[in-house]
Amino acid sequence: MVENIIILGGGPAGLTAALYAARDGFNPLVISGVNAGGQLLLTTTVDNFPGFTDGVQGPELMDKLKRQAEKFGTRFEQADVTEIDFSSSPYKVKVGSQEYEGRSIIIATGASAKWLGIESESKFIGRGVSSCATCDAPFFKGKNVIVVGGGDTAMEDSVFLTRFANSVTIVHRRDAFRASKIMQDKALSNPKIKVIWNSTVEEIMGDKRVTGVKIKNIVTNGTTEMQIDGVFVAVGYKPNTDFLNGKLPLDAKGYIITKDEVKTELPGIFVAGDVADHVYRQAITAAGSGAKAALEARTYLQSLGG
Ligand code: NAP
Repeated sequence: MVENIIILGGGPAGLTAALYAARDGFNPLVISGVNAGGQLLLTTTVDNFPGFTDGVQGPELMDKLKRQAEKFGTRFEQADVTEIDFSSSPYKVKVGSQEYEGRSIIIATGASAKWLGIESESKFIGRGVSSCATCDAPFFKGKNVIVVGGGDTAMEDSVFLTRFANSVTIVHRRDAFRASKIMQDKALSNPKIKVIWNSTVEEIMGDKRVTGVKIKNIVTNGTTEMQIDGVFVAVGYKPNTDFLNGKLPLDAKGYIITKDEVKTELPGIFVAGDVADHVYRQAITAAGSGAKAALEARTYLQSLGG
C-alpha cells in the first residue's frame, strides 16, 4: 500500500501536520519515534501556547494534539526510522525490516538536547549527569546541583530544580545570559540559585556517582573544584537529522535546508518544526510550520491527481 502522506515525528510540528492532513482526508501515517511527543514531554508548564489562559503541562498538550489528530483518522507507528530512500517516488521509509511507501513525506523529527562533550560527562550520564531536569530533578532532593548554560532552558531547569535541590548553581561561559528577561528574573530572584559567570565545566568528578566538578574561569584561567551531587546540562539542541544520511542538504549545524519555508529540493518532501528551525524553536512555531507542510503536501498530492 502506498501512503498519501507519511509524517516523521510526533511533536507539535508532526501532530499539527497530521491534524491538517487527516482533516483533508489523507489518512496520514505518523512514524513518531520511540520517544514520541518531542521536547514538550520534557517540559513542565507551557504558558505561551495560545488558547491556554492558565498554561498547560507539556505532556498534556501533546496528548491533546495526538488525540485531535487521531480523531480525524491519523494512524501512528511508534518506532525510529532507520533508513530512507528518496531516489524515486513513491518515497521509501524503513523502520527496521518494515518498509513504508509514501507519495509525500513530512519530516518533523525535531531536535535533541546537546551535551558538553567532555569525557567525564558520558561516564556519569544517569549517575548524576542529566540533560532533563523535568525527568530527573526529584532524584536530587536536598542535594546541591549545577546547571550549565545561559538560555531559557537553563533558567527553567534551575527554577524547577529548586523545588527539590538544596542549592542550584548556574555555570555560564559568558557574563550575560541569552535567556529572555522574564526567565532570567525568575532565576536570579530565587534565593536558592547562584550564578558562576565566565566559567566552563572542565571535568566531572566522582566514583560511582558525581561528587564534584572542576570549573575553569575563562577570564582568569583559574580552576576551582566544587563539591556537588548533580550536573544538569542545558546547552541547547541538535537537530535529529542523522537518519537522513546525506539524502537531503543540511546546513553546517545539521538543520535541513528548506526553500519557500517548508519545501525541500525534492518534490513532495516537506519539513516542519525544529528539524529545520534554529531561530524560533517554539511549540507554536513548530505547530504553524506543521500546518504549512500539510497544506503544501495537499497541493502536491492534488497536482499528482490524487
Ligand atoms: P539556547 O538558547 O541555544 O542556549 C544554550 C545556552 O548554552 C547558551 O547560553 C550557550 O552559551 C550555552 N552553551 C552552548 N554550548 C555550550 C557549551 N559547549 N558549554 C557551555 N555552554 C554552552 O538553548 P536553550 O536554552 O535550550 O533554548 C532553546 C530554545 O528553546 C530557545 O529558543 C528558547 O527560547 C526556547 N525555550 C523556551 C522556553 C520557554 O519559553 N518556556 C523554555 C526553554 C527553552 P552562549 O549564550 O554563550 O551562546
